[in-house]
Amino acid sequence: MTLQTRIHAARRPPVVLIAGGAGFIGSHLCDALLQRGNMVICLDNLSTGTIDNVRPLLNHPNFRFVEHDVRDPVEIDDDIDSIYSLACPASPRHYQTDPVGTMKTCVLGTINMLELARRKGARVLQASTSEVYGDPEIHPQPESYLGNVNPIGPRACYDEGKRAAETLMFDYHRMYRTEIKVARIFNTYGPRMLENDGRVVSNFIVQALRGEPITIYGAGTQTRSFCFVDDLVRGLQLLMESPASVTGPCNLGNPHEVTIEAIAREVLTYTESASSLRFEALPKDDPKRRKPMIETAAQTLGWRPRVELKDGLQATIAYFALRIAGDAPTLVPDIAPRRTGRAARSQLRIADPAR
Ligand code: NAD
Ligand code: UDP
Repeated sequence: MTLQTRIHAARRPPVVLIAGGAGFIGSHLCDALLQRGNMVICLDNLSTGTIDNVRPLLNHPNFRFVEHDVRDPVEIDDDIDSIYSLACPASPRHYQTDPVGTMKTCVLGTINMLELARRKGARVLQASTSEVYGDPEIHPQPESYLGNVNPIGPRACYDEGKRAAETLMFDYHRMYRTEIKVARIFNTYGPRMLENDGRVVSNFIVQALRGEPITIYGAGTQTRSFCFVDDLVRGLQLLMESPASVTGPCNLGNPHEVTIEAIAREVLTYTESASSLRFEALPKDDPKRRKPMIETAAQTLGWRPRVELKDGLQATIAYFALRIAGDAPTLVPDIAPRRTGRAARSQLRIADPAR
């Protein structure tokens, strides 16, 4: 950043670009950053996100929506202080629909965000994932664990893509001194999850509310640790605002570990549903156990999740119950494999608020 840019930056609110800002986590981040007085540029190709998630923000003077695919280089005229790189399909069902596209989003998308950060002198936070640990042989997982990922399995497009994205982050940091933050996000849930993205919490809640069988894959003895979205968003902001020396990787997740069958039973209790449990085949390479060690986040950021699973599930159930009652399903179209040719430079388009 030049001296002139720094003086200008001191006079205006921080400008934050959120790639993937129309998605589940990204839209909550847009809300939180706007509420704190930031200018927010939300960049998204609306593949697994929806404009509905940010519709209430479209007329906000500090908010701008740009429809763009991060696999293409991006030009933004405004100064940018920080970039949250969240643009990527996150549910196994969605990221496996177009695995080559997912890998490109991870690799080209991260390069494009890092190049933008270099040009703007911005810091960049990459939304990495607990999937970099694969099917872990160490439990719970500390950041020092190097992981157990099958590089040729159906989850590899995402797991290896996210691992490559972490590599790019640290190489840009070493080569160009780009200010980086790598967050390893564990399973997150809450309002604005998509009804049809196949993730366990949204699936179980929607099935229970509709009185359909709850689909448990495998015996239901596999575990996950679920973090409510508000906690996660607070952790992402704290990491972004941490001193430049803090690069991560930093686990962000709730260490409260539960079996998948236990989650099904909790959902049945809170929804007072009579749905039955239906056991189906376990998908290939489905991790058996997952639980974050969060000492790094606790000591470096002073972060710990606050929302109990029971409260978070009830808030999420209330969200889906309203959507279903209002007959407004949170669906996105199935993702079609995208053209593979590299666009020269895509046109930025401000969304039509009526869309
Ligand atoms: P999401 O699918 O709701 O959000 C992703 C957003 O990125 C969507 O709005 C989508 O339209 C957009 N997007 C996808 N590909 C794009 C592309 N090529 N160009 C531009 N935009 C694109 O998922 P989420 O749960 O909100 O996840 C957000 C980020 O957090 C992802 O990077 C994901 O890998 C990471 N993460 C999420 C979880 C979780 O449990 N939700 C766990 C670990 C990591
Ligand atoms: N799962 C399940 N039934 C469903 C959806 C998912 O039993 O309808 C299981 C899935 O096999 C996995 C866990 O729940 O063991 C979490 O799945 P999700 O897709 O939400 O996240 P991830 O596997 O990426 O952690």
